[in-house]
This record gives sequence, structure tokens and C-alpha cells, in this order.
Amino acid sequence: MAIERIIDTTIHDEDTDEQLIEVSLRPTTFADYTGQERLKLNLKLAIDAAKKRSEPIDHILLYGPPGLGKTTMATVIAHEMGTNIRITSGSAIERAGDLASILTNLSDGDVLFIDEIHRLGRTVEEVLYSAMEDFKLDIMIGKGPAARSVRLDLPKFTVIGATTRTGALSAPLRDRFGLIHRLEFYTTEEIAQIITRASGILNSQIHPEAALMLSTRARLTPRIANRLLRRVRDYADVNGDGMIDTAITTAALQLLEIDELGLDPGDRNLLGSMIENYGTNPVGLNTIAALTGDEATTIEDFYEPYLLQIGFIERTPRGRRVTAKGYKHLGKTYDETQ
Ligand code: ADP
Repeated sequence: MAIERIIDTTIHDEDTDEQLIEVSLRPTTFADYTGQERLKLNLKLAIDAAKKRSEPIDHILLYGPPGLGKTTMATVIAHEMGTNIRITSGSAIERAGDLASILTNLSDGDVLFIDEIHRLGRTVEEVLYSAMEDFKLDIMIGKGPAARSVRLDLPKFTVIGATTRTGALSAPLRDRFGLIHRLEFYTTEEIAQIITRASGILNSQIHPEAALMLSTRARLTPRIANRLLRRVRDYADVNGDGMIDTAITTAALQLLEIDELGLDPGDRNLLGSMIENYGTNPVGLNTIAALTGDEATTIEDFYEPYLLQIGFIERTPRGRRVTAKGYKHLGKTYDETQ
């Protein structure tokens, strides 16, 4: 069985318990959605304006590392607009026909959330952007000489797209979004608030100092914070009376091999192999992937954003390199002449 990685911010389909808990922890209003203040201000304005004009809200593209709250924000927007949300993902819509059936089943004002929108195939993407632009769907009926094109009216819907990389989106698709926003990493105080709220929902008691301690290990990411909380809660139930204090938290994190900055053995292996093989020189993404045995996209989506955020690696035109700070954390001597 594959070992569950704490920093793996994806949810696996077979993991229904995990999905159910995630859904139960999801805030549904702006008031419950911690942090991302600038984004919330912009969205509130757009929602108020749309409501005033009795129109659906403009199409929105949210981007940033996984687990920062893009799906959650889409559900908050639908809730605040008082509309329904349909959640799907770029890889689930394989053919133009799949998209056509989703679009024709929407109602006026509905939100269509497309996760990993950069994974849409070219032909599907083309159908989508004409639908987004004028709420019309051009479909071909029949085959061969009898084939004809029909134009269908669609309800006035809103697409909320989420992606870890805007760069992977084609320019015409990107241009169809009226609002494009990046989600930022959270502060440790915000993560502590998210942990406290989640522990309330999960009916477990956590000391404020333990919440703060956990918040420094969660890679500034709500999904990881909630996941760590659940692991520590398990530990507290088995090895104590269920109360999560700093002693229980320290012991549980030690067992999970999560260090004081939230790095796990995978991160330390990545930094260690870069140092060992390339010292202070830049290394290309594919080379790093070969060194650690991970996919290049895993490194780009999961490891790198946080390691860049805390200044342990930096990007140069010739590749990534470990910084003096990264060396120090691993207890290695930084020598640029190496
Ligand atoms: P993404 O779509 O960016 O991968 P999600 O929206 O699925 O991330 O968020 C992952 C989990 O983190 C959610 O289930 C939710 O419980 C929690 N979460 C995310 N953002 C927030 C937030 N701002 N406040 C509270 N909880 C949050």
C-alpha cells in the first residue's frame, strides 16, 4: 500500500472518508473563509455588482498551489450568489460531447467549477470558450455528408476555473475570464484559526499552543493543516484522552517525521540530493525529478511552491538551486566556490 504523504495535497478518489471530511470542513460563506482578504474584497464587489444588475457573475480564474482553497472559494461564491454549483475537472471532460451535456444541464446563474482547467483538451477548450463568450453551443449533428452544425442557446452560467499554473492555459481561454486571481499562502495565524475551527467541527479539543505549533508545520496550506490535525487527533485518541496539547502534537509530528518547518523526508531528500550532486549550482527540473524519482509536475506543484516561499530554493534562468538558508536547515555548510 502506498504511504499517505502529508504534503500530498491531492485527494484520491478511493479515499472517500477523506473526501467526506474535507467537504464537512469546507467553509460556505465569506465570513467562515479565513484569509485571502484581497481576493475576498474583489469577489464581494463583483458579486454585489452582479446581484444589483441581476446578472450572473463574470467568469473567474483562480490559480495557485493545491490545497489553498480554490474549490472552497468557488463553493463560497455560489453560496453567496444563491446559485447551484456543478464541480468537475479538466481531466474528466474528455470529449466535446461531455462538455455539451454538462452545459445543457445548467440553469441560469449556475456556477460551473472546472478544477485543473489546464488539462482540458484542445477541442473541448474551443467549445468552452465560445460558450463562455456568448452562451451559445455549436455542435455537429450526424456524420459525413449529412452532418450539420446546430447552434444551441445556453443558460447564462459562470465558469470558475482553477489551475496550479496559468502558463499552461491557452491565451484565448485565459482571455475569457473577467477576473483572474492568485491565491496566496496563508499566515501561520490564519492557519491556526483554520485548525481551531476545524477541530470544533470534528469535535476534538485542542490547546491554543498546540494549534499554533501545528500551524507552523502545515506549509501555510489549509488542506495540509486539516490533514495534520486529523493525524494528531488520531494520536491523541489512541495515546491520551483525546485532548490535543503540545506534548501530544510534538510526539505525533515526530512519528510523522515532519520537522519544525513542515518539511517531510521527501523534501529533505530533495534538498539533500540537490546539494550532494550539484552543490550551489542550478539544476534543471527534470534532473531533480530523476534524482528523487518523482514526476517533474509533482515537484513543481507540491514541493517547490513552499520551498520557494520559505526561501530554501530559488529559481534562476539555468534552473533551481538550494539557498544558504536551505543548506543551514539541513545542517550543511554553504560554500559558493564548491
Ligand atoms: P484547492 O481547490 O485549492 O486544492 P480546497 O478548496 O479543496 O483547495 O481546500 C482544501 C481544504 O482546505 C478544504 O476542504 C477546506 O476545508 C480547507 N480550506 C481551504 N481554504 C480555507 C479557508 N480559507 N478557510 C478555512 N478552510 C479552508
